[in-house]
Amino acid sequence: MGSMWRPCGDRRARSRGGLSRCDDGGMGTVLVVEDEREIRELLRRYLERAGHAVLSTGSGAEALRMVEESVPDLVLLDLGLPDLDGTELLREVRQDGRRTPVLVLTARAGVDDRIQGLSLGADDYVTKPFSPTEVVLRVAAILGRSGGGGDPEVRSYGDGRLVVDDRRREARVDGRALDLTPTEWGILTSLASVPGRPFSRYELVNRVRGYEYAGYERSIDSHVKNLRQKLGAGAADVVATVTGVGYRLGVDRDH
Ligand code: CA
Repeated sequence: MGSMWRPCGDRRARSRGGLSRCDDGGMGTVLVVEDEREIRELLRRYLERAGHAVLSTGSGAEALRMVEESVPDLVLLDLGLPDLDGTELLREVRQDGRRTPVLVLTARAGVDDRIQGLSLGADDYVTKPFSPTEVVLRVAAILGRSGGGGDPEVRSYGDGRLVVDDRRREARVDGRALDLTPTEWGILTSLASVPGRPFSRYELVNRVRGYEYAGYERSIDSHVKNLRQKLGAGAADVVATVTGVGYRLGVDRDH
């Protein structure tokens, strides 16, 4: 399954309006909610190529959980979901007082649906069939509007013990560069996106490999083991175990 890995980008947390937000090197994390697997994977490919970190799910119920737990910068929402109506999902996202931008994908071209969706707080609409390039452009426009982007590319944690350099795609511990696999890099940068917050194995698999890998949660453990070996005995605590949950970054972000 290693050959299926697709780059996920890097994230960091930032506090804005009381909400913890995740961004990847300035391009933002996008949650794709679409039950048609081919469309979902098509969007993932285009968004990742444009530099976004992508989370995805085909379930409305799971999408609600992911909005809560992963705090994406933007939600790409298909209105026609099997388990939960997209407009209902939109309403619930907004009821929490979240300002997370939502770009709606819909086969419903009717004017009434558009008005209803926009009144519920969708930021924009794309009607199916759509061009993925157009979706990427709209995502960029909305993220620009909502103030996403502009994150520094080098971040440090634990008084400089851990340094993550997006542009060079390099992590250093105590001044020593780590030779990480794409999966290890994905795990480390996911944890570093919100230092201290526990990430479940499921969420890490989703962030690093995508929704299709649900069920491979336990594979995360062996990647973490390898990652800790590379961190070395003196810095193994940088990736801390959270019993019964998963893992978290064990060092705080430097300011
Ligand atoms: Ca659908």
